[in-house]
Amino acid sequence: MAKQILVTGGTGYIGSHTVVELQGKGFDVVVVDDLSNSQITVLDNIEKITGIRPAFEQFNLADRDKTDAFFQKYSNIEAIIHFAAFKAVGESVQKPLEYYRNNLTSLMNLLECMNKYGVKHMVFSSSCTVYGQPDVLPVTEETPRKEAESPYGNTKAICEDIMRDYCATNDKINCIALRYFNPIGAHPTALIGELPVGVPNNLVPFITQTAAGLREELSIFGDDYDTPDGTAIRDYINVVDLAEAHVVAINRMLDEKQKANYEFFNVGTGSGYSVNELVQAFIKVNKVDLKYKIVGRRHGDIEKIWADTSYGNKELGWSASRTLEETLESAWKWEKNVRGIE
Ligand code: UDP
Repeated sequence: MAKQILVTGGTGYIGSHTVVELQGKGFDVVVVDDLSNSQITVLDNIEKITGIRPAFEQFNLADRDKTDAFFQKYSNIEAIIHFAAFKAVGESVQKPLEYYRNNLTSLMNLLECMNKYGVKHMVFSSSCTVYGQPDVLPVTEETPRKEAESPYGNTKAICEDIMRDYCATNDKINCIALRYFNPIGAHPTALIGELPVGVPNNLVPFITQTAAGLREELSIFGDDYDTPDGTAIRDYINVVDLAEAHVVAINRMLDEKQKANYEFFNVGTGSGYSVNELVQAFIKVNKVDLKYKIVGRRHGDIEKIWADTSYGNKELGWSASRTLEETLESAWKWEKNVRGIE
C-alpha cells in the first residue's frame, strides 16, 4: 500500500508543488489547509497534472480538537510535511500574537498528535530568515542564527527550537527543518504557481504582475548596498526543485538515514543574484517590457545572502538543477495563464 503523507498547507504555493512531486513518486497524499491564503481550485489543478485528487480536509491546525479528530480519522499517516503557517513579514509586525499563536500552536498540536497517534516523521518549512544578515557568506548549516527581524521570522526560529527540544526528549519522533532560500517560479504546466492576495510583497510576483499590466511599475528597493551593482542579493530556488527536496527529506526519514532525530538543511542553489540581475534576466528570457525604478531600501531587508549547499547536497543526495532562466520563464508562463494573456 502506498505510504500516506499529510501535507499541511497543501493548497499553498510550495505545498501544492510538493503534493505533485509526492504523488509522482507514488505517495498517497492527504492535504489539510484552512484556505486562508489559497484556493480550493488548486486541488483541481493538482489533479490535472498528476491524475490524482488528494484527499482534503479544511481546518486550521491551531485548533487542537480538530487536529486530534483528523488523526483519528486518518490512521495511516506515516509522515507530515508542515507548510501551513502565516507568512507575511509586514503583517506579522502588525499582528504578532496572531502569528505566534497560529504558527507555534499548529506545530505543537501536530507534534502532540504525532506522539499520540504514532506518526514518526515531520518535515518543517523553515527559512533562511533565521540567519538574519550573516557575517560570513555563503551560509552553511553551522552559521549561527541571528535575532529575528520580525515576529514571522521569530516563529520560524522558535518552531525550530520546539522541534529540537521535543526530539531531544522523544526518540520516536524525527524532524527535519528545511531552511528555504527564495523560492520562485511555477510548475512547468503553468497549472499551479504563486498566487498572492493583493499587492505582492515578493519580488517575482511583483515583476510578473507588472509585466502583465496589473501593476504600474516595479520598485527596486535600494541600489546603494555593498554589492557589485548596489542592489540586494538573494539565492533564488525553483519551487519544483524545492518541492523535490521535501520528497528527498521524507525518504531520508522513512529509510532511517537521519544522523540525528532532529536535523536541518539549507535549501538553495548556492548562487546569489542581485535584484537588478533578476530583473534583467526576466526581461531577456521572456522578451517583455518591464517598467521599473529605483527607490529607497525596504525596512528590514538584508543586504545579501546565499546558501552553501554542500552539506545538504552530500547528506540528502540532492541539488537544485533548474536554471534561473527556465525558472523565470515558468513564472511568466504561470502569470500569463492566470491572467488569460495570449
Ligand atoms: N524587492 C524589490 N522590489 C519588490 C519586492 C522585493 O526590490 O517589489 C527586493 C527586496 O528588497 C529583496 C529582494 O527583492 O532584496 C527579494 O525580496 P522578496 O520579498 O522576494 O524576498 P525576501 O528575501 O525579502 O524574503
